[in-house]
Amino acid sequence: MPQSEFDIIDEYFTRQRVRRDDVALGIGDDAAIITMPKGQQLVVAIDTLVAGVHFPNNTSAEDIGYKALAVNLSDLAAMGAEPAWFTLALTLPSVQRAWLRGFAKGLFELAEKYQLQLVGGDTTQGPLTISIQVAGYVPTGTALTRAGARVGDSIYVTGNLGDAALGLRCLQQPAEYAAVPTAINKLNRPEARIDIGLSLRDVASACIDISDGLLADLGHILDTSNVGASIDRDAIPLSDGLRLLCEQNTDHYAMALSGGDDYELCFCVAPQNESRVEAIASICGIRLTHIGIIEHQAGIRLHQAGRACAMTGKSGYEHFSG
Ligand code: ADP
Ligand code: MG
Repeated sequence: MPQSEFDIIDEYFTRQRVRRDDVALGIGDDAAIITMPKGQQLVVAIDTLVAGVHFPNNTSAEDIGYKALAVNLSDLAAMGAEPAWFTLALTLPSVQRAWLRGFAKGLFELAEKYQLQLVGGDTTQGPLTISIQVAGYVPTGTALTRAGARVGDSIYVTGNLGDAALGLRCLQQPAEYAAVPTAINKLNRPEARIDIGLSLRDVASACIDISDGLLADLGHILDTSNVGASIDRDAIPLSDGLRLLCEQNTDHYAMALSGGDDYELCFCVAPQNESRVEAIASICGIRLTHIGIIEHQAGIRLHQAGRACAMTGKSGYEHFSG
């Protein structure tokens, strides 16, 4: 690289405004030092975005920076954790200042929203790849997991499903699909449901974020919790744009059922906690929709107007699946 990695780090990544008390030593030494708050557990996640796999090659640098952090925050949201700090492993084909400026802008815009401090990372040359590791805190014993769903629990999702898949379709097949700006924005700038996750700590019995499609990710809750589920297809929350497409051709339900990249939460609630869901929705200003029920029988049964309904693309997106 024409510019040394140290110059890049200094110019683009050390000037963040967020300074946290629990970060005893941030960027600049061999490793960061974090002081753990008393009574809290550390919740850690990492996600990698590879150009052309996790975002279209022509995605703006700003959106890539935003999305790389957002998909990680979504994992913390699903655990009910409060975001604290992150590390960044950046692999770049070459040093392009405009690209780096845009990337840092999108990244730190989201980091500042949650007072999240960048405490270290690694910078290397190669095909464009961004790995971000995030860490957050939960009071000991209060994290949400995939394991607690019980027969009779209600199943909810946040926001709308399928818009990210619709956004991708708009970009990939512009001749067949007129651009839907809100859907493209959902693909490029997913909204991690941090506030909802925090509010669900003592309300939800199980929780997951939907990165690979509702059926695949709900399937993980069911497997881990050793239960099954019935889902009402007509209850699945859709944007106006996707609803219209589904009315024209029911194949489009696949975007909501098995399209990836929505980063909404899917969670289960025991009957005695159900009355608290509405208050959380109104406080957080996010739609929470009841889409089904946990049952004893393993697997997912999809219903529409009281009748069994075929499931499209149950497996979701899988790497290495050929
Ligand atoms: P080392 O060779 O000891 O691993 P580096 O030279 O890779 O250290 O990094 C120097 C410092 O810069 C470290 O504190 C590291 O965490 C930080 N750093 C490197 N790359 C990044 C990056 N992309 N974002 C944030 N911090 C980074
Ligand atoms: Mg070192």
